[in-house]
Amino acid sequence: MKQSQLFTKTRKEAPKEEVSRNAQLLIRGGYIDKLMAGVYTYLPLGLRVLKNIEQIIREELNKAGGQEILMPAFQPKENWELTKRWDIDILYKTKDFEGREYALGPTHEEVVTPLLKQFISSYRDLPRAVYQFQDKFRMEKRAKSGILRGREFLMKDLYSFHANEADFDLYYGVMKKVYGEIFKRCGIGHKTYLTFASGGIFSKYSHEFQTITPAGEDLIYICDNCSLAINKEIKDETPKCPQCNHADFKEEKAIEVGNIFSLKTRFSDAFNLKYKDEKGELQPVIMGCYGIGLGRLMGTIVEALADDKGIVWPETVAPFKVHLLGLAGKEGSAVTEAAENIITELEHVGVSVLYDDRDATAGAKFADADLLGMPYRVVISEKTLAEKSAEVKLRQTGETTLVKLDHLVAHLK
Ligand code: ATP
Ligand code: MG
Repeated sequence: MKQSQLFTKTRKEAPKEEVSRNAQLLIRGGYIDKLMAGVYTYLPLGLRVLKNIEQIIREELNKAGGQEILMPAFQPKENWELTKRWDIDILYKTKDFEGREYALGPTHEEVVTPLLKQFISSYRDLPRAVYQFQDKFRMEKRAKSGILRGREFLMKDLYSFHANEADFDLYYGVMKKVYGEIFKRCGIGHKTYLTFASGGIFSKYSHEFQTITPAGEDLIYICDNCSLAINKEIKDETPKCPQCNHADFKEEKAIEVGNIFSLKTRFSDAFNLKYKDEKGELQPVIMGCYGIGLGRLMGTIVEALADDKGIVWPETVAPFKVHLLGLAGKEGSAVTEAAENIITELEHVGVSVLYDDRDATAGAKFADADLLGMPYRVVISEKTLAEKSAEVKLRQTGETTLVKLDHLVAHLK
């Protein structure tokens, strides 16, 4: 894609009221735009990142037997009364012309449980796992963390349905691994810890995936000896490591990028979701739920990996793998011609390229390449062409090499 054709432009300054680093960098780069506190538009570059993250999650969930659906955001009040959640403080409510009331879903147990009830009647219908990527609405008190905490935000939520606790435990274990793999593929595996989260809203038994970043709203404690991570509540209860009994911990700020919950029969009871066991007796269905905020994950990647020059995308989620900079290339010039050949060859082998063909100074192009954060910056100029080469710079390490044009495709593939 040609940068001159992008309708967005980079900005030197972020809006003053944006205090978080993820929002500052993403707005400056033209990845997102703020409509109001906690509500953002994803622009072409930002949407590419979000879709890459979505695809990684989808592939991993499908491997674990998840079936993708899409449920409505607009939900009837009656369902929320049945679960006694109509009065929770985060719920956005709305009315129609006849005075009927609705919730804008902050989560989807109130939709998925009656949905699955239509299809689960026997032990043969279990286990099941369904998931979606869908906008959630939550009246968050503080929305100052950019896309880490939205009032409208895209979430992946998966719900699992089981005949008994043992089967749920098995799936819960599978999901822990699946989440680990997702965060690894998104480039933050080395900074993400699994922690016990006692006293969640809906259940006493849950786990959080916490990524270390100074922007984090939570504190986690990592055992110096065995690297087990625990949250503050647990540390206050048991000052020694529950795994190895060691007493020294490192305190880190972290952000919850995902969590997994046991719902037991909280929602199947409310909707009377039962199945017939082998003996023909009615039993309640055991449920679990598993969430990841995609915007939060994208913002966390920015927070955890960016440097003082800008964003550093991992290759797996970057909007483009290569940022090609043509220096002093006028239409029909040798630089433009070489750039166009490189793009054709790279795209032919599936490497995506953002081509900075703008009429701008080399300095401005370099600064924007650092801000935008594509993994590979490739520069061609009359100087590099004189050596039949292009200059390749790794965004993450800053390592620069001159690569012969003949070898460029193999080098970047
Ligand atoms: P938090 O404690 O940060 O408010 P939560 O416990 O309310 O999170 P869940 O309801 O379990 O979170 O939602 C599942 C996932 O959705 C979270 O792990 C997080 O990744 C994401 N998430 C939750 N709230 C938001 C939000 N306001 N904006 C963006 N992502 C969110
Ligand atoms: Mg919350």
